[in-house]
Amino acid sequence: MIKRFALLAALIAAPLAADGNTDTPAERLDDPGTEVSEERLRADMDTIIGFGTRHTLSTQTDPERGIGAAVDWALAEFGRMSANCDNCLEVLPVGRVVEPDGRRIPQPTLIRNAVAIQRGTERPNEVIIVQGHYDSRVTEPLNATDDAPGANDDGSGSVMVLEAARILSQREYPSTIIYALLTGEEQGLYGAGILADWVGEQGMTVKAVLNNDMIGNSCGSDGYCEPDYVRVFSEGLRADSTAELRAQQRRFGGENDSPGRNLSRWLANFAAQYPDGMQVRQIWRTDRMGRGGDQIPFLDRGYPAVRVTVSVEDYEHQHQDLRTEDGIKYGDTVDELDWTYLTRASVLNVRALNALAMAPMPPSVTADAAVRVDTELSWEPTSGADRFVLYSRRTDESYWNLADGLVSASVSVRPRISIPVRKRGDDWLFGVAACNGDFCSPTASAVPGGAFEPVAQSEE
Ligand SMILES: [Zn+2]
Repeated sequence: MIKRFALLAALIAAPLAADGNTDTPAERLDDPGTEVSEERLRADMDTIIGFGTRHTLSTQTDPERGIGAAVDWALAEFGRMSANCDNCLEVLPVGRVVEPDGRRIPQPTLIRNAVAIQRGTERPNEVIIVQGHYDSRVTEPLNATDDAPGANDDGSGSVMVLEAARILSQREYPSTIIYALLTGEEQGLYGAGILADWVGEQGMTVKAVLNNDMIGNSCGSDGYCEPDYVRVFSEGLRADSTAELRAQQRRFGGENDSPGRNLSRWLANFAAQYPDGMQVRQIWRTDRMGRGGDQIPFLDRGYPAVRVTVSVEDYEHQHQDLRTEDGIKYGDTVDELDWTYLTRASVLNVRALNALAMAPMPPSVTADAAVRVDTELSWEPTSGADRFVLYSRRTDESYWNLADGLVSASVSVRPRISIPVRKRGDDWLFGVAACNGDFCSPTASAVPGGAFEPVAQSEE
């Protein structure tokens, strides 16, 4: 069986490195990550903290204070970036009025996200979303008047999104990138739900959502530090699952192969190609214990989404009134940020966005392995792909490519691809990534629910 694969690989293209989705040394590629500026991140942070509070329920009419002024500034800043790239960004406030919910929205409230869209030149319908939540809070979730700097939570993700837009808008990509500063997160993930609905209404195909929420500190209140890792949270079972899909997964697997999980694997491999850069610690659950984030409304609608966040949380400096108590300073203030960490986390995002925007969509793959000694993998080629890469792993393994013998093989594009693999399908999991040149997509698993598309759509 190994011989067959060696032949296949030799005939078509060089096999890929065992530890990643690309065989290309990272150093020889265009690297927009080198353009990330700590100075600009600091300047944006000073500006947004200058609005006093960005609480979702704060004033929307004061020109200098509150969420209204803060969103207006972000839209204007996206507009200035657009002016620097021949109007390459469509800038718009994606929002609506949310009615009282008996929880954290006491009166009808306009939730406005600041959004910039950089349309893809070849596949504008295919989108990657990078987002942070722009709103902030203190101890009491309905306190909309006290100063709430929200430097780490989530000023850090917000300034990264702005910097990513600034850098990547100077380039062109086959697929679309959406840069989003979301509001209403602390009141119930409202802004993310509104953007996820909007993306669906536009008929967009979502390749990846990188939700960055707190990427600006490296140490916890107990003094434990991890400066070289971000955590990436991904769901196991799909949030948009159906009874039918669950029944299939119970019998044939798929609980560890959601698109979000494979996006997480891709990010970890990708980060490892830059050994001096920020690395990824994968956390295989949707979010932290008892908590949530803006990736969740996207997952609910069937889109591949992950949460990128600090590896060690600092609870004294999030969701806190600004105060000193028993000698401990509380509050999410700018002086508590680790700027080196925030800059490196931003570099990882910019590099990953660049690669994801260049890569094609992962294909939707089926595996036929019933009562046979091999497995037939088949899929329709996705647009823009110049080759596909096959991966396998034992059912009790965590990562692609760790299998003995064959780890991956390249396949050329043809109208409908059907490949017999000399492995017993009962005992293996298979996945396929779509590549264009140096850039390969996340791997889509050939299991029920493995496709990078909403479940309802795939069952039609
Ligand atoms: Zn947050």
